[in-house]
Order: sequence, then structure tokens, then C-alpha cells
Amino acid sequence: MDKKEVLRKITDVSNYLYEKGLVPGKSGNVSFRFVANGSENVAITPSGVSLKDVDEKNIVIVDMDGNKLNESLENDKKASSEVFMHINVYKKNDEVNGIVHTHSPVATGFAFAEEKIKRLEGFGTIKNPFIPFVEYATPGTMELAENVSKALENEDVVLLKRHGIVACGENLDDAFLLAEFVEETAKIQLVSSLLSRGQTQAHLKRSI
Ligand SMILES: [Zn+2]
Repeated sequence: MDKKEVLRKITDVSNYLYEKGLVPGKSGNVSFRFVANGSENVAITPSGVSLKDVDEKNIVIVDMDGNKLNESLENDKKASSEVFMHINVYKKNDEVNGIVHTHSPVATGFAFAEEKIKRLEGFGTIKNPFIPFVEYATPGTMELAENVSKALENEDVVLLKRHGIVACGENLDDAFLLAEFVEETAKIQLVSSLLSRGQTQAHLKRSI
């Protein structure tokens, strides 16, 4: 993919995630690793901009040390505050080229309650029956970047305690589809647990 296609792709994915309610307000960030002139770059959504307003003009391109490469009057935006979380994941995993971080409401509710989300069929071999948790660290810190990149060395999605989710893939489509799938999985698990609790209560009433 050339730079133009990468920027288009990030724009489409960011706008889609917002419309689907997976990145409310100004939450969430999206990135893509690509090669330009023989070196690896990362294109990432800007800081302080809702993903509904992301477009080709405000996406930030950084090198693997986080230095902004597309400095211009037109693009005075800074990279997402989670840029090092993304870069660290890429550095630790050669096969990952797309990352999506969301605060999708239901999965994030599980992350706050520290309730496990069961992994459902739909995304290749299930290595772990539950989506792993990452210990809490303040958003935007190197501590969080370290915790997340370590957890994603052998996983494609993790739940950040009291924060949200991070999904990654060989390309951006895999990453955002997985983030969407995890939210749907959390919804199914929530409804299922509410209904089974209802059944238990009905059963108890009948037996009184
Ligand atoms: Zn976040």
C-alpha cells in the first residue's frame, strides 16, 4: 500500500468505528505501519480529534521513534497520545501492521468490572479461551505502552483494565473487524448472563 492508500484506509476505518459507536467522543486511535522509501513509518490518527473528523489531511506520520514526518502548515496536529503504545506493538511483532484502540462501551464495561470476555469462534484458532487483561497504567504513558506491547506479543486482542481494548492484525481490516467482533461478543455475553439470571429467578419463584 502506498501512503495515499494508507491515509484513505485509516480515514475510512476511523469514520466507520465512530459511526458504529465504538469510539465515542474523542476516544480511540487507529494506526497502520507501512514502508516508504525503504524505511518503516507509522500513520496514526491525531491527538484531540474525534475519529469522526479524521481525514487524510490530519493523520500524522511518524518514524519508529515517534518523530513526526509530515510537519506542515496544513497539518499542525500531534500524533495520538498513545503513539508509543502502537509503535511498541509494531516493534515487538513483525507480523502486525494495523492496530485499533477503542473504548467500545460494552467491552469497556467488562474491562472496568474485570469480567472476562470469552473468546468466540470467528477469528482463526482460539489460543486463549478468554481475552487477556492488561494491568492498568495511566493512558498515554510508556508504562501502558510496555504493558500492552508485551501482552500482544502472542495475542491479537487485549482488554485494558479500567480503560478499553486494543486489537491488532496483519492489516488494518483484521484489526478493526476484531475490535468490532469483541464488542459484539461482549454484548452476547452480557445478554446471555442477564437472561440466564432471569431464568434462574423464574425457576426459584416457581419452586416456592
Ligand atoms: Zn484509550
